[in-house]
Amino acid sequence: MSNSVSTKSWKENVIKQDEIDKYLVNGKDFINEREIFDHLEKNQEPSKQRVRDIIQKSLNIERLDPAETAALINVKDESVWQEMYEAAYEVKKRVYDNRVVFFAPLYCSNLCVNNCAYCGFASSNTTEKRRILSHDEIKRETASVIDEGHKRMILVYGEHPSSDIDYIVDSINSVYSVERTTPTGKGTGSIRRVNINAAPMEIAKLRQMWEAGIGTFQVFQETYHRPTYEKVHPSDTIKGDYRWRLYSLHRAMEAGIDDLGIGALFGLYDWKFDVMGLLYHTMDLERQFEIGPHTISFPRLTPAAGSPITTDSNYLVSDDEFKKLVTVLRLAVPYTGLIITARESPEIRRQMYNVGITQTDASTKIGIGKYSENYTQQEKHEQQFMLGDTRSLDEVVKELAEMGLITSFCTAGYRCGRTGDKIMGLLKNCVEGRFCKLNAVLTYKEFLDDYASPETKALGEQIVKKEIEEIKNTKFFKDKNLLDKFEEYYQKTSNGQRDLYL
Ligand code: SAM
Ligand code: SF4
Repeated sequence: MSNSVSTKSWKENVIKQDEIDKYLVNGKDFINEREIFDHLEKNQEPSKQRVRDIIQKSLNIERLDPAETAALINVKDESVWQEMYEAAYEVKKRVYDNRVVFFAPLYCSNLCVNNCAYCGFASSNTTEKRRILSHDEIKRETASVIDEGHKRMILVYGEHPSSDIDYIVDSINSVYSVERTTPTGKGTGSIRRVNINAAPMEIAKLRQMWEAGIGTFQVFQETYHRPTYEKVHPSDTIKGDYRWRLYSLHRAMEAGIDDLGIGALFGLYDWKFDVMGLLYHTMDLERQFEIGPHTISFPRLTPAAGSPITTDSNYLVSDDEFKKLVTVLRLAVPYTGLIITARESPEIRRQMYNVGITQTDASTKIGIGKYSENYTQQEKHEQQFMLGDTRSLDEVVKELAEMGLITSFCTAGYRCGRTGDKIMGLLKNCVEGRFCKLNAVLTYKEFLDDYASPETKALGEQIVKKEIEEIKNTKFFKDKNLLDKFEEYYQKTSNGQRDLYL
């Protein structure tokens, strides 16, 4: 059988219609375009008092409903936006404290059967150099990522028979198998949490992935606006099936993966509509499974080879609109993590920490195999899109320390079973933020001792001191008898022991 024939028959077997239909209500999906447009139409120019009441609901860590979210989206008065920016930061502090969690993406393969109009990996882009990493190469890449100081990785794949579930499971195992002696020679470094960003799958494959021991599973809907979705995803491709993607995380939930990441690619359609789409997605997961997404991502279209839409779309989101949409998301779903990536410039990233970002990446390389190739230049034909920030992890950690933020490499949550409804409950009650403070300090200390430059270490030690003072004065930690254990673990970490968590 020729390659193209086997790829064709593989493609025909990916979508399982019954694994879409079972989630529909009266044959309809949860995106009702008319209803979204109506909310946006009926909630024009809300009064200051109404906005303040809505903000208060967010500050009480309650999810907003569509009408409230539409009202925030429609605010025109810049002074009211200012109040919303401040409230967004306050919400983030209440739920997640001053922590930002770091991860590194690893692109395992750019082979792809789809033809998305915005992506450098699109099958019609013949200038793209195609490559799938062998498992030895994945281990080599992982070693380089660990040597930067990372503890979390997200593995990213195109959709292709050669990177189907068996390859994905093997790549997860390869990443977890790598251990590196830390630069000080005192301990070992490893990746403690693997997240996945891959194409939608059937439940049986998702179950295999869950059993391999993943953290979060991410699938971005790209746009919830169906006519636009159909325009940028050709109908003869797997990704052309809007509902197969729309319910990918419902299936994941059913497969046991209760830690999910949703997202939209901003710039394809009106940002206001897609913010509403993300809210409806959250609500439907909560309705059907009582657990919403753990994270929301909001990549903006970034220039990519062979994809003119990335620069000439009518809906490209300005920096000002981007700040607004992140703020609305922070207020609309106060307990959900928000991820910004190195697609964005250092300046934009700095601004977004102040409206509620909880996770980001650094020292990122998205060319296939580029972490271990000592590669500094970005090459258009070797990656999915162009990055806005190529600074090292050390530089970004230093910048955060200057802003008074602590970098967390904590992976304790899912290893202690704090996932799904358990973590969402803790986040809604603002308990996780405090709990993770302890693990953030321990992992930050590991980074400062093992990988940081002298300047970063000096700044970081001041943050650690301040955090420990706060921990000692927090009633919650005293009441829960956590102080002694924390102090013991902090001492042991300072003496070179690694991977201690509460
Ligand atoms: N192939 C899988 C899929 O499409 O779901 C997973 C990986 S894809 C490489 C990850 C995400 O990158 C996509 O979901 C899309 O949102 C984003 N992306 C693709 N092209 C982009 C571009 N030009 N600029 C910014 N983000 C882009
Ligand atoms: Fe393939 Fe994903 Fe890129 Fe679409 S976005 S072309 S599915 S890698």
